[in-house]
Amino acid sequence: MSLPRLSIAALGGTVSMQAASPDQGVVPSVNGQALLEQVPRLTTQARIHVETLCLQPSASLDFDFLLGVFDWARRQVEQGASGVVITQGTDTLEESAFFFELLWDRDEPLVLTGAMRSAAEISADGPANLLHAGIVALASTSRGRGVQVVINGQVHGASRVRKSDALALEAFSSPVFGANGLIIENTVRYLHAPSARKTLPPPRRSGQRVALLEAALSADTLLLEKLLELGYDGLVIAGFGAGHVSKGWAEAITALALQIPVVIGTRTGAGSTASHSYGFIGSEIDLIQRGAQMTGLLCPRKARILLWLLIGCQRSNELPDYLQHFGK
Ligand code: GLU
Repeated sequence: MSLPRLSIAALGGTVSMQAASPDQGVVPSVNGQALLEQVPRLTTQARIHVETLCLQPSASLDFDFLLGVFDWARRQVEQGASGVVITQGTDTLEESAFFFELLWDRDEPLVLTGAMRSAAEISADGPANLLHAGIVALASTSRGRGVQVVINGQVHGASRVRKSDALALEAFSSPVFGANGLIIENTVRYLHAPSARKTLPPPRRSGQRVALLEAALSADTLLLEKLLELGYDGLVIAGFGAGHVSKGWAEAITALALQIPVVIGTRTGAGSTASHSYGFIGSEIDLIQRGAQMTGLLCPRKARILLWLLIGCQRSNELPDYLQHFGK
């Protein structure tokens, strides 16, 4: 019986990090082939093609580079891969996962993973995470589910997952929804039925700017006032509580929302924005009347990615449909 084909791309991150000497900090230096050699079991389950597309900390990845990674992944399935795994740093994993989720229109699974402990540490989690990611990417039950993040024995949907702890091994969670599935005895068990997909074509342009600002107590309005002059094409605000801002920010939003899409989420890290509960100046009712749109359950940093891609596709008029889909 011939084995299925699995493609793996390494981008860097802690999973690929080691220190040149014991007194130095770890940096990305372990390439994809060396990562794979730590997981011999995977090579008994698939014919593996592995490439190192970069060795970067994930804070320095950008949308243009990720569009190239997306093209690479698409080519892999066109050439016969049953699934694709991408390893990267965990700091921005939740963002790249959602970026790919919005673009990935194939049934073949695209799986992202990383590690919280570097390759140099005792009990490094990278090898197990890579094995589990490969298992998920090869599973027939993963087909049609879009992009998954596999880490710490859990499978998380790309539109829900967040890094919710800076250094713990159990750094990832999907607030409100919970994990999509679990790795049990080296197989994937899904806990939720697949949800309907809603994708976009690759953007026609990539120079658009979407700002993400967090509401904070006693924050001034200077950045909001300068935003148009600075050339921003969209604004996402991580608002207080259920999607609220101060009176000063609300007034500044009126002028902005006449020119560019303004989207309000919650800075709390979990739960939905409201839509018709509060009536004070800066509340969700007030902000909607001023032309802003609420993210619902979609977290602000994922809303920024959605808006960036919609603007790039010249489809920002469809923002309400996409927010409805991902925010409900
Ligand atoms: N904690 C991060 C990681 O787990 C640091 C580096 C990065 O995101 O690239 O990978």
